Order: sequence, then C-alpha cells, then structure tokens
Amino acid sequence: MASTGPYHNETIAIATMHAKERAIAKPFRQRLGAVITVPSRIDTDTFGTFTGEVSRQGSMLDAARAKAQAAIEATGLPFGIGSEGSFGPHPSLPFVAAGRELLLFSDRRHGFEIHETMVTHRTNYQSRECRPGDDLRDFLAGVGFPSHAVAVAPAGVTGSRELAKGISSAAELAKAIQHASGMSRGGLALVVADMRAHVNPTRMAAIRALSVRLADRLATRCPGCGVPGFGATSIIGGLPCAWCGEPTQLAALELKRCSRCGFEQQIKMERSPQTADPGQCEHCNP
Ligand SMILES: [Zn+2]
Ligand SMILES: [Zn+2]
Repeated sequence: MASTGPYHNETIAIATMHAKERAIAKPFRQRLGAVITVPSRIDTDTFGTFTGEVSRQGSMLDAARAKAQAAIEATGLPFGIGSEGSFGPHPSLPFVAAGRELLLFSDRRHGFEIHETMVTHRTNYQSRECRPGDDLRDFLAGVGFPSHAVAVAPAGVTGSRELAKGISSAAELAKAIQHASGMSRGGLALVVADMRAHVNPTRMAAIRALSVRLADRLATRCPGCGVPGFGATSIIGGLPCAWCGEPTQLAALELKRCSRCGFEQQIKMERSPQTADPGQCEHCNP
C-alpha cells in the first residue's frame, strides 16, 4: 500500500452506471492509497450506448473526458476518471473481434489530463441474427452466456428502442427473441453480447488491467516539473531487422512525455529479441 505519493488519501470521482468502480478501486487503493467514489445521478448513457439508442458524440477520448468532467462537477472533487470502450473488428486482424478500452484521468489541482488505452482480442464481442427456436449454443458459448449477458433487438432496425438488455437466462432469452423477431420486418432477431461492464466479466477484467497501468503512471512524477502522471505516450519505430539491420516499423523506443510541461524521455523498449523478424522488414520481405 502506498503510504505517500501524490494521491495518498485523496478521493477520485468516476461517473459510471455499470459498476466500473469494482475494477478500478482496488488498483487505485493499493498503488496510490486513493479512494474511488461514484457520484449518483449521472446518466452516463447520455454520452452514448453500445446498443445504439444513443450514439456517441465525438471520439472515445471526447466521451471519456466528458464523463470525467461530469464526475468532477457532480462531486466538487479535483480528480475525475472517465472510461470508454468500443468493440469491432481487430485493427490488424479483420476476422478477429477486438475491444478497445480507454481510461482518462483529469487532475484539476495540478492542471493536467492523461489517458491510457489498450486493444485486446480478449473480448466476447459478437452478434448473431436468428429466428425463434434456432440453435444458438455455439454462439452463446462464444459469448460466455450466462455469466456474460446478451442484448436482443429486432434485426435491421438501428437505434431500436425495442431492446432487451442484461439477459442472462435461457427463458428470458427465448422470450426476447420471440418478441424482437415479431417486431422485425424479416422476422429476425439480433442477439449481441452485452458489453456493459457490470454484466460482462471479460470487459471488467480489461478495465482492471488498464486501471493498474493508469495507477502506476499516476504514481510516477515528471522528472522535469514534479507533476504526477509521467509515462509512455507513444512508441517510436525502427527496431532493426535481424538479417539486414535496416530499421523496421516495429517499436524500438518508448516516448515518455509530461502532459503538463512537455518534458520528454526516450526509453529503449524492454523486449526480446532485440531485432525484428525479417518478415516485418521491407528490404528482406518486400
Ligand atoms: Zn513535467
Ligand atoms: Zn531486413
């Protein structure tokens, strides 16, 4: 447990209706000695929903920032966290589903904001169109149902209000499919993994891993100005090819940058091997 440090005994607000504090509170307590609080009466669905009733305005970063600001304003605390996720095809493996998580920390006392992101293929994100009575066993096994909930809507209707969320029993699911297919012109229901954190343990675990990274970064002060939150903000390519030694696109250095004073440090990435696979080299494998 951190007994000193920039956020020891401080309270940090997070706006969430989906119990994300369950993932974030422990790393923040253990690594920073900080307490997480959830203000009531913030409807985070107004910032966008996964199921399309409310589409997200702007980028993930904008949405997370708006949530952190709402938490700060609702509590009067100087520290707020906003969390945002999105799900879809993996950026480099189009047939694999990926989850992208973003966690933003806003510090009004020291006057800075930082965020951490991660892309993971460990997601149960998937969907299936079906009719009442269809065999969904494979699909449901892939989702992790019933420990992971699903949502059901009429197929082919975007922004549908006729949506059942948080379904975690076979009887409820059959009823929702029956109802949704009756509302759809083609008689099809769309079943999707419910990506809200409190009904999706896989997503909750991803948010937990990311909050460990965020807490560790907040425990690190900038060598230039002493403000917390010093850490890697980008990576720099150029890892040499194992065969010809020419630089490749693969990351060689990590750039750490202070979001307040701009102090920078380049750190060699801890990785083995120290060279790139020639398959990644434009000279050896054009
Ligand atoms: Zn600094
Ligand atoms: Zn090469």
